Amino acid sequence: MAGGEKAKSSGEYGEQIVKNILELMGWNNANSGVTVPCVHKEKHKKENSKEPQKHGIDYVYTYKSQLRDATKQDVLVSVKCRDGYPATDSGVKSKFKEFVLDLAYAMECYPACELAKKKIPNTDKKVISGLIFWIDRGSEDGRENESVIDKIGNFYMNQECVYETIALVDNKRAQFLYQLLSYTRSKYGKENVEFFYIDTGLNNSSIQRVYRGKEMPYEYVNSNVIPLAISNGDEKRLFIGVAESFCKEYLERLIGLAQELTSTWTAKVTIAFPDYNSFEHREAVLMAKSSFENADFVNSIEVITYKPDFRDEVI
Ligand SMILES: [Zn+2]
Repeated sequence: MAGGEKAKSSGEYGEQIVKNILELMGWNNANSGVTVPCVHKEKHKKENSKEPQKHGIDYVYTYKSQLRDATKQDVLVSVKCRDGYPATDSGVKSKFKEFVLDLAYAMECYPACELAKKKIPNTDKKVISGLIFWIDRGSEDGRENESVIDKIGNFYMNQECVYETIALVDNKRAQFLYQLLSYTRSKYGKENVEFFYIDTGLNNSSIQRVYRGKEMPYEYVNSNVIPLAISNGDEKRLFIGVAESFCKEYLERLIGLAQELTSTWTAKVTIAFPDYNSFEHREAVLMAKSSFENADFVNSIEVITYKPDFRDEVI
């Protein structure tokens, strides 16, 4: 296959992978292949390029924010699908910088385009955010669930461009979202699984406040704790999906969080870790629960894994 063709098919493969994750996030009708005319032509000029200047954006998703009152949220999604991550930390950083700059420039010109001007009812504020999916498509080197996020660390590019937020999804994060959301869908039924919208202090106007829905807020993409609201007939369940490994102290903090969240939404509670094993961790769960006063509520909390294998769910 010629180099150009391979690059093109890798790009399409990446877009399909990301489309699937966006669908799990409830971002079903994201606009794909959006072209934004460049309005900062001098600053954004690419060397040796004779073509009229424009920015291509893989997906744009616009919605009414659940976590900020009266706010239209536009998320510009950039898909980078490669065979392997750079071998060194500095390689990772410089590649990421290139991706960020590309998207940040697009975000600077985006407000002038038609899609950005489209109104959403009951909003009078706007937030534009960026989201980079950096996918390693290779699956033969044993590194397919690796994280590059840890290698990037604190990242500032204030001199070169102005942007509000750019979030990164790498293979590890994509795998977390995929496993958690596919697990809950298959366990409870797709139609019964929604995202729980936490109180941020910015979504206080009580008339408009919505507690749960099918769309995942942008702010949850990078969160290590994702709250879901499961409804099945009369049964309501708060399902807290956790990215990090099980530990007793962490569980105590999550039980505290569950108490807080269910003060406005009465529900049963499930806390799910990637590696929880009832034989291994039962004692630690009992100890964590015993440190709380509200015994009835706390004892009813269920701790499980969202990555079960044949040894789980037997006790
Ligand atoms: Zn531009």
